[in-house]
Order: sequence, then structure tokens, then C-alpha cells
Amino acid sequence: MSKTRRITERKQLTEIKKKLGMSKKLERKTKDKPKNKKAAAGAAPARTKNEKPKKEEKRTARSLVQLNPLSALIRSAAELHISPVSGKKVRIIPLGGLEEIGMNITAFESEKSIVIVDCGMAFPNEDMPGVDLVIPDVSYLKEHADKIEGFFITHGHEDHIGALPYVLKDLNVPVFSTRLTRALIENKLREHGMIESAKLNTVCFGDFVKAGDFSVEFIKTNHSIQDAAALAIHSPAGVILHTGDFKVDYTPVFGDTIDLQRIAELGKKGILALLCDSTNALRQGFTMSEKTVGHTFENIFAEHKENRIIVATFASNVDRVQQVITVAEKYGRKVVIDGRSMINIIGTASELGYITVKEGTLIDISEIRNYPDDKIVLIVTGSQGESMAVLSRMATGQHRKLSLTANDVIVMSSTPIPGNEKAVSKVINELSRMRTKVIYQDTHVSGHACVEELKLIYALVHPKFSIPVHGELRHRLAQKEVALAVGMPKENCLLVDSGDVVELSQDSCRVIDKVQAGPVMVDGLGIGDVGNAVLKDRQSLSQNGIMIVAVTLQKGSGQIISGPEIETRGLIYVKENEEFIREAREVVLRAIDECRRYKDMARVRNTVRNELSDYIWRRIKRTPLILPVVSEVSV
Ligand SMILES: [Zn+2]
Ligand SMILES: [Zn+2]
Repeated sequence: MSKTRRITERKQLTEIKKKLGMSKKLERKTKDKPKNKKAAAGAAPARTKNEKPKKEEKRTARSLVQLNPLSALIRSAAELHISPVSGKKVRIIPLGGLEEIGMNITAFESEKSIVIVDCGMAFPNEDMPGVDLVIPDVSYLKEHADKIEGFFITHGHEDHIGALPYVLKDLNVPVFSTRLTRALIENKLREHGMIESAKLNTVCFGDFVKAGDFSVEFIKTNHSIQDAAALAIHSPAGVILHTGDFKVDYTPVFGDTIDLQRIAELGKKGILALLCDSTNALRQGFTMSEKTVGHTFENIFAEHKENRIIVATFASNVDRVQQVITVAEKYGRKVVIDGRSMINIIGTASELGYITVKEGTLIDISEIRNYPDDKIVLIVTGSQGESMAVLSRMATGQHRKLSLTANDVIVMSSTPIPGNEKAVSKVINELSRMRTKVIYQDTHVSGHACVEELKLIYALVHPKFSIPVHGELRHRLAQKEVALAVGMPKENCLLVDSGDVVELSQDSCRVIDKVQAGPVMVDGLGIGDVGNAVLKDRQSLSQNGIMIVAVTLQKGSGQIISGPEIETRGLIYVKENEEFIREAREVVLRAIDECRRYKDMARVRNTVRNELSDYIWRRIKRTPLILPVVSEVSV
């Protein structure tokens, strides 16, 4: 990794921003005024924003300096040495990330303090129609808000930062992260109008952050995005290592290899507990280096010199985008970046110098027509088959500025996240129907460690206890197998559920309690107002449709003045089922007649609903949502 690449020229950045149409959006404010101890921590980043830690600086930072005179939280290593005390206990409370991939958040609690690692979101599953995203239930944290020292964020992926705008609304505590992660968090908070009030802090690798009873150390790792960190949480009970999402990449596209030396050093001193990424624990061997995908791209470009090339990948896979740009430059092609999240993330990454682009490489999508096919590469969103993303819109001919031709080669540069397989094969079929060529072999490597890398981490860390995280039960079970294979006693490896309270001391690690945890559904502008009842209605609507009955009665006599009018949606085709509707109307008339003497509107409504429901089930074996609208007028 050369230093020159890190120090990207101003001119070049301005060019990228201009091309991405982002120059205004990305101007950043970092000069918050400190008000109190916690606000002070939030106010001042440890370094000025365009400064990258140099190698020597990084090595010495551990034993160095007051990084920021204003900050009470970032201190020198000497001051931060926390000696584990026998008998002291720390509680580890995962509030998400264990039943699914996504929504990662874990609290570490001592007598006086709480530190929280990550605050991610998850995407809704098929049983949640109309839900936009899912965030963790942080009721427990709200109850103990006064103890919270801050959020410590491992990296800038949605499943680690996505819930921050929602959670910070109620818990505005300091947030600590590395530089790129912070910029991506800023993007999110800006969208929610929260950038002024948030207390964001930039931390460099090797820094310690003093946080009440804890001190949290940021350690460099490799992943599919730069600036990913593992966290060594120095606690009164001992050191807990949280790996974050990681892989071991000896030849990363950007930056250094994972800081195995520091991990080994900590391991040698003694790590009490390891919380390690389980995503790829079911995959044998090593995860290939990100660079191998670069070679695949080289071959694809060499083989398709005449074609237009379109690469679909995750917006957040900054390294992948860099590799496509590098190969495109080698083959003299212009690059178009399309898709809102892609432009956002890549714009931020290039502004901060995490992506190197030659002047003039990036062009706007409207300029495509000025170039022949063999001079163009598009990098787009939608590799997971998301219906609103660029790739799906292209595949279905709904993209306003671009239509596919038989001369297009589409490279799917990601593997489907579990649950997205159907959507991905649908989009591949649609693309094939447009007669484009679709390539998806060897065009992706994972950002997560496979079995042999997990073994390496266990060998270096040699933890006394282990709690596998970041994965469904099957992934975490697989990591347990790895832990046992490298000699860990069975009883020292704990598989826990979200909401479990783990009590950790120097000689024990066990679940002692359970707190409220689980998904909170976010829908449009509301948060958490989509309860189970609403979801049940939505499911019923989507499966059985709705029947609305409108009738007006005379007050007192209960005589029908108008109606009953019957409307249905998603139940039957009315024009061909007049008989069915006529009978339904008779059922309603009988029901109203039955309860006329009670003069109780609620009773009328219920009777109508029940009778109709029976009738519809008898006739067509369906259970639509029935909505009786019964009104009374005094005429
Ligand atoms: Zn990640
Ligand atoms: Zn993750």
C-alpha cells in the first residue's frame, strides 16, 4: 500500500465530486461546540478530517498522546490500562444479529457504564409487507440511558450503522468510528436532519477510547469496505475481543493487512472472551483475496473488447468498485456510476481518498451516447435483485436513460444474501430475455472469514470463552465446531439468543437473564408503529383481499335508508360474480334485521362481519378482511 494513493490530490477529488454531482452534498461540518463531557467527546475528531494516519504514527498511537485536549474520552494507552480484577463481572447483551444476518448491536455493561458495539438494521422478510426496514428494540438501553458512554461502530455497512438515525433520536450519545465509517454515518444522519446534534468522533487504528469503566481499542481488519475495525474492549473483568465483520486479506486492494500482530499481542496477554464473525463458518478453506476478483475482471474485459460492460455490485463494496474502475482505466473505458446509494457511498469514499480515479474517467450517465459501447463501463446497484434498483429497472426496460442491447455484458459481482436467491434469478432471467450476456462465475469473493481464518483467529486470540456472533444459529453452530476443533472446551463456547444477558467474569461465562429484544418495524415515516395487528391485516389483505359493506340506518327505527353497498378488492371479479354479491347483500340485510331491536351499532357491525365471514367461507373458502361501515342518520 503506497502512501501516495492515500493522499489523493484535491483537484482529482473535486473532479470526482463534480462528476458524481455531489460537491455540495458532501461538504462536511465538524465544528460542533462542546457543551458537557459527553458533548465534548462528540465535538472534536481526533485528527483533522483529511489527515490519514501514517504508518509510524499508527504504530505509536497505542502508547501515545492526548489525542484531543478537549476530549475526556480519548486518552493515552498508559492511562487506559485496565487491570482485570478477579470477581469483577461484566454483562454482554446482544440485542440483535443472532437470529439473522443484519441488525447487529451488542451492549457491554459494567456496574457503572455501558458501551454499545454497532447499531445496524435488517431488511424486512416476506412476512412483513409494506415494512421498509427493521431496527433493533433498544428498550433496555433506553431504561439505562444514563449509563451509556457511546456507540462504537466497527464499519460502515448497513447491518452495522443503519439503525443509528432511529436510535440516536432517543439516545443521543457519542458515536466512535474510523474515518470512512464516520463519513457514511454522516450521510445517513444528514438525510434525517440530525447532523448538527449528533456527537460523532473519528478514531484511528491503535487509538483507545476511555469510556467509563471500559476502554475500547480500534484494531485494523480486512473486509469488503475499508476502515473496518475489530474492537478490543478492555473491561474490569478482562479483555473482550469483538472481531466485527472481517476476513484475512494478505493482499488487500486498499490499505494494510489485518493487524494480526496486535491481535496476537493481546492474545498473548490474555483475552477473556471472543465475539467472532460467523457468516462464513460453514465454508471451508480461506476466503480469497479481493484482488482475485480484479484478475477475473481483467479477463472479462479482455474477452469482451467490443461490448458494453455493466457491473452490478453492492453499493457498499468500495473495494470492488475500485477494481472495476482500475481495469476500466487500463482498457481506456469511461465509467458511469448509477444508483442513489452507489453514488452516495462511492462519492464519499472518493472524497476521502479511499478510491483512486484518474481525471476524466468518470462521466455522467447522460454522456453515454457520446461514446461507443466499447468505451463504456457502468457500475450499478441491484445485484441482489432489488426491484427498484438500477439493474432491475434496466432488465425490465424501465430505466429512463438507458436501454439494454444484445451487445451488453452484465457482470453480477456479488452472491445472493440468503433470502434473495429468487429475486436474483428473476433478474438474471429478465436480463437473458433481453439477449444480454450475464456473467456470474468467479466475479465475487466474500468479505467474511472462512473456517481456516477463524482457526487462525482462535489460535492467535486463544480466548478463555467464546460467543459466536453475526449469523443465524447454523452459522454460529459451525463456528462452535471450529472452536472445539482448535481445542476449546465445549462449555466455554456459548450460543446465545438476542436479548440474553451473559454474565462474564474471569472464571465463568453464562446466561443469567433475558431482556426485551427483537425487531422493530419501520414503515414510511413512522417508527415501530407497525405492530403485529397491522402486519396480520396486511398479510390477510395480500392473501384474501377486502370486502367493504356500507349501509345507512335511520336513528331510532333502525330502518335501512341506503345500501347495503358492497365493494370488494382482491377477492373476486365482481362483474362475473353478481350472484355472489347479491347473496352477500341478502346476508347483510338479514343480519341487520336480526339485531335491529338492540339499537347498538357495534353489535350491528359485528353481526354483519360474522355473518358475511361465514357466508364467504361457505361459498368460496376465503377469509377476506371485512369492513362494515354502518352509519346512523336522524331523518
Ligand atoms: Zn460488513
Ligand atoms: Zn455485517
